[in-house]
Amino acid sequence: MKHTIAQIVATDMCIGCGLCEALSGGRVKMAMTSAGSLRPSPADGFTAREEALLVEACPGAVAEARVEDGNSTDPVWGAFRSMARAWAGDPDVRYEAATGGVLTALGMHALDTGRVDFVLHVGADPQQPMRSRWVISETPESVRASTGSRYGPTAPLAGMAAALDRGQPFAIIAKPCDLGAVHSLSRSDPRVDELCTLRLALVCGGQSRLSKSQAVLDEFDLDEDDLALFRYRGHGNPGPTAVETLDGRRFSKTYLELWEDEAGWDVETRCKFCPDALGEAADVAAADIWPGGAPTGEDEGFNGIIVRTAAGEELVASAVTAGELVLGGPITTGEFDDFQPHQVRKKEALAARYQGLADSGVAPIETRGLRIEELGRRLDPEHFDHERAGASRRAARLH
Ligand SMILES: Cc1cc2nc3c(=O)[nH]c(=O)nc-3n(C[C@H](O)[C@H](O)[C@H](O)COP(=O)(O)OP(=O)(O)OC[C@H]3O[C@@H](n4cnc5c(N)ncnc54)[C@H](O)[C@@H]3O)c2cc1C
Ligand code: SF4
Ligand code: SF4
Repeated sequence: MKHTIAQIVATDMCIGCGLCEALSGGRVKMAMTSAGSLRPSPADGFTAREEALLVEACPGAVAEARVEDGNSTDPVWGAFRSMARAWAGDPDVRYEAATGGVLTALGMHALDTGRVDFVLHVGADPQQPMRSRWVISETPESVRASTGSRYGPTAPLAGMAAALDRGQPFAIIAKPCDLGAVHSLSRSDPRVDELCTLRLALVCGGQSRLSKSQAVLDEFDLDEDDLALFRYRGHGNPGPTAVETLDGRRFSKTYLELWEDEAGWDVETRCKFCPDALGEAADVAAADIWPGGAPTGEDEGFNGIIVRTAAGEELVASAVTAGELVLGGPITTGEFDDFQPHQVRKKEALAARYQGLADSGVAPIETRGLRIEELGRRLDPEHFDHERAGASRRAARLH
């Protein structure tokens, strides 16, 4: 089955990464749909050459691991050099960040040491703090100002053309699907590997549509125009979801209150079929490490890191020497399975889900080096058929 961007958008396999805007020179813009997703608009507004480049990199079409020689490998966690507990050396960075501040600390260190000239990542839109936008941070302070997880729609790769056009080495901090697209783009644009020299990922359970954030406002009877702050987590680990209004009122929910009802997560379709939520195209991926997969309270902030490349290993070692990162003990793949049981279950279900997509005429994501078939063989036939039928029903609704 051959993909076009219009088909990918029509079947809801677009995650809204923003590459469509970057590769069309901004002619096609990322726009918020009524369902609360960022999508390229118009989805059929590309030249033949742009379309050809896009379908080779779009996360709705393709996902590929970036693997270096000499790594260990695990069927679920992929190729890695080391796995360890880690957190930011600066207690304030650690406190403000989503988890332990590893990604912020590594981004700041990469700038501090001149390894890169800027960091492409995302942060709250100052005009509309519930929404997110791509950010180019040229200073460690700027990286720190956009610390924390943004659970709603974000399009970090809408900034990719601006980043590459600078002709300077840069780091990117983004979701695994975004970094997969960056890696695939490197096949057609040699500037990607030349300039985008550090790639840092957050391990990702799924991106909610904006409706998830809107539900928080509805609960507090607030309008989006009233907002001065919408912080999804951080200021503790996991920290509260904090909302502040322009007239100084404050509201909050705990992380467990925010996520207790899975029916209200309103996660993007692509996330249900995500073949790499673990950052296999990253130099370093950072995760939460709550036993069993959910917090039981607040703590000081502990990330699990998966170091996948020599560049990632070098950056981590340098940050540790500088005191900007602290390493705890090593983590085994078995421990990571316990920290992220939802990721293990999804990986094992994907082969069946892809079969279900194909049954209903929706082109599955083409995966390279992600072991989807191997992991799919772990499912017993009854479970496989259940996942396949569920995906087929879901896909039928997408037409
Ligand atoms: C949508 C989403 C789902 C997640 N699901 C899981 C999960 O299932 N399991 C798990 O272990 N961890 C998950 N996380 C990751 C977790 O919340 C932390 O981000 C991660 O542990 C890194 O922590 P940190 O303290 O090092 O990050 P920080 O130091 O706070 O840095 C976060 C960095 O990520 C960037 N960023 C934030 N949100 C986004 C976004 N939506 N897209 C692109 N870049 C972004 C920011 O710009 C910032 O630079 C998820 C995060 C997000 C945004
Ligand atoms: S996932 Fe990215 S590249 Fe693919 S259609 Fe959506 S915005 Fe475009
Ligand atoms: S689950 Fe996968 S597709 Fe969804 S936002 Fe995370 S990395 Fe992207």
